[in-house]
Amino acid sequence: MLSGLFSRSAARAADFSHLDQASVEFREVVKRYGDHPVLKGINLSIAPGEVVAILGPSGSGKSTLIRLINQLESLNGGEILIDGKPTGKLTGTALRQLRSRVGFVFQQFNLYAHLTASQNISLALEHVHGWKAPQAQERALTLLDKVGMVEKAEHYPAELSGGQQQRVAIARALASSPQIILFDEPTSALDPEMIGEVLQVMKALAHSGITMIVVTHEMQFAREIADRVVFIDGGQILETAPPEQFFRHPEHPRARQFLQKVL
Ligand code: ADP
Ligand code: MG
Repeated sequence: MLSGLFSRSAARAADFSHLDQASVEFREVVKRYGDHPVLKGINLSIAPGEVVAILGPSGSGKSTLIRLINQLESLNGGEILIDGKPTGKLTGTALRQLRSRVGFVFQQFNLYAHLTASQNISLALEHVHGWKAPQAQERALTLLDKVGMVEKAEHYPAELSGGQQQRVAIARALASSPQIILFDEPTSALDPEMIGEVLQVMKALAHSGITMIVVTHEMQFAREIADRVVFIDGGQILETAPPEQFFRHPEHPRARQFLQKVL
């Protein structure tokens, strides 16, 4: 299933030990903004530990699709199940619990500017998850080490490059030991020379066992790392296939058109 440069054994040498995993299932999921339908009945089952790349043109509904999973958006129809259980519409503690199981990495990093790299990780553990400060700090350093950022633990986001900020954001997303991690175009805001270091961390994560859903325009990354590609356009899944099949023989005309533009 995995091909190219990154075999399972090579990835084992990278820095993530075994992480937990959970399944995600969309059943007839519908999302509208006002009268404007953006997801029109999504059915998608993602197995525990699966690495899925979501591809599709701008405005097709990719961000909305993953933002529904940890309820950054609420759905208008259908349901989303995690490990077979409907998540429903959550608030308060239940919403925090869901978000501790589902990490999210944004295109724009979204680090707190007034906090150091290490505080960006430890403060959420203290204030949201009730950890004691010393344990939270230790966990922050452990995670920063895994993404190669421990030397910058006391630096503020403004003192870090985009690639470094995004690696801190990945460490932060892992702080609560999620079983699922979602990425929304994590390299799109980066200068080209910084994309590689972020993809490298993501490759290691892809082999850690965690369930991973990545919205990306990095076709080579999707091809090498994803177990499956999901192509979405106009709020619908038009094709889902193993990457080799999708990139060599896309079946849907819109997928072919999309690939001609981006490859
Ligand atoms: P993608 O991530 O594939 O570019 P999005 O999920 O961001 O697509 O957006 C899908 C559609 O929903 C687009 O037409 C977009 O303009 C619209 N949309 C996204 N977010 C909002 C919002 N908060 N309010 C209104 N419309 C939105
Ligand atoms: Mg988007």
